[in-house]
Amino acid sequence: MGLRLIFLGPQGSGKGTQASRLARLMGVPHISTGEMLRQAVADGTELGKKADAIMQAGDLVLDDLVVAMVGERLSQNDAACGYILDGFPRNVAQAKALDEVLETPLDGLVQLDVPHEELMKRMLLRAEQEGRADDTEEGISRRLAIYWEETAPLSDYYRETDRQVFAVDGLGGIDEVFSRVALALAVE
Ligand code: ADP
Repeated sequence: MGLRLIFLGPQGSGKGTQASRLARLMGVPHISTGEMLRQAVADGTELGKKADAIMQAGDLVLDDLVVAMVGERLSQNDAACGYILDGFPRNVAQAKALDEVLETPLDGLVQLDVPHEELMKRMLLRAEQEGRADDTEEGISRRLAIYWEETAPLSDYYRETDRQVFAVDGLGGIDEVFSRVALALAVE
């Protein structure tokens, strides 16, 4: 199994946690567009200024801005032998743009499956614990709606274009889910 992977999963699926753990195990960078954008907002960069209000509303930042940010990140040395992308692509337009900028094609996609009710429960708990600006009930619902509408169809896009798609059950503890991810990718 190659090391160029996308992690796909709805908000609250544990995607960030699992992606970061897998990246550590495989010795490749974990690239989270949500984290990069939050950092840009905190640093007050041009990109951050454009993204701030959009993120707070739970909407997607413009494809062109995010694609440029990811393209730049993937051109850095540490991503030369692989990476785990988390939070990107989020729609088919971004997936196509990614295919165009990549010199070495993606190896595949890991998709974490968690039922909607469980997601709302986990997200509201996270909102209490972390107090992220976009973790209001409205923001969460908005992000989940966008996920089902625009992001979930990505697994079909990747299947149709002959990439491997590994669907993993995301219910259970962090270790339990990680074992499933590792088993699916045969990296244990
Ligand atoms: P969550 O998975 O909880 O939505 P993220 O940290 O992945 O959290 O993303 C937070 C916000 O950053 C998103 O709601 C969106 O506004 C913005 N964002 C992150 N990745 C992308 C992307 N690929 N395209 C557009 N906007 C993005």
